[in-house]
Amino acid sequence: MADQVFLVNDREVVLTTQRHVRCDGDGPLGHPREFMTLEHAEEVVCKYCGRRFVRADGALAETVRREGQLLTPGEASGRGR
Ligand SMILES: [Zn+2]
Repeated sequence: MADQVFLVNDREVVLTTQRHVRCDGDGPLGHPREFMTLEHAEEVVCKYCGRRFVRADGALAETVRREGQLLTPGEASGRGR
């Protein structure tokens, strides 16, 4: 399953099934590559840009889906709602 990106409180939150995530900031405000692991945490935050990565199978992900705004509508279409 592809990662889903939500907007929660004006911050990007990535729901991911990966245990190892990478962030380079995207766009013009990119930053050095930061590698993080979700093996021992339900959530990690990029120290450069503040983007949050949340395990898609965790309880926190449910909160993000409920309160966040989905930024990747292509992934969401075709799913029951
Ligand atoms: Zn980042």
